[in-house]
Amino acid sequence: MSEQMSRDKRRRPSYTPVFAIYHRPSSECEFFEYEEAEGYYLAYCKVLQRYLTRDAALKCENYWKTCPFRKIGLQMAEEKE
Ligand code: SF4
Repeated sequence: MSEQMSRDKRRRPSYTPVFAIYHRPSSECEFFEYEEAEGYYLAYCKVLQRYLTRDAALKCENYWKTCPFRKIGLQMAEEKE
């Protein structure tokens, strides 16, 4: 499945207050993505396959190196090879 197709299948959270991020989020985690919404950004984790709350996204920005989900994602990627 292409990256674009999987992105299109995502269902944005209906209750946005806890998900809305008012700065462009950034993380060095390879599983972190963000999307622009109407006046805010949404962060997405490709390991968890779900949108992240603002608080969780903040952890991805600052503590991505020690994230347990990232370790799982890296392990899964390695097994696919
Ligand atoms: S939750 Fe962990 S694996 Fe997912 S995007 Fe954030 S840092 Fe990366």
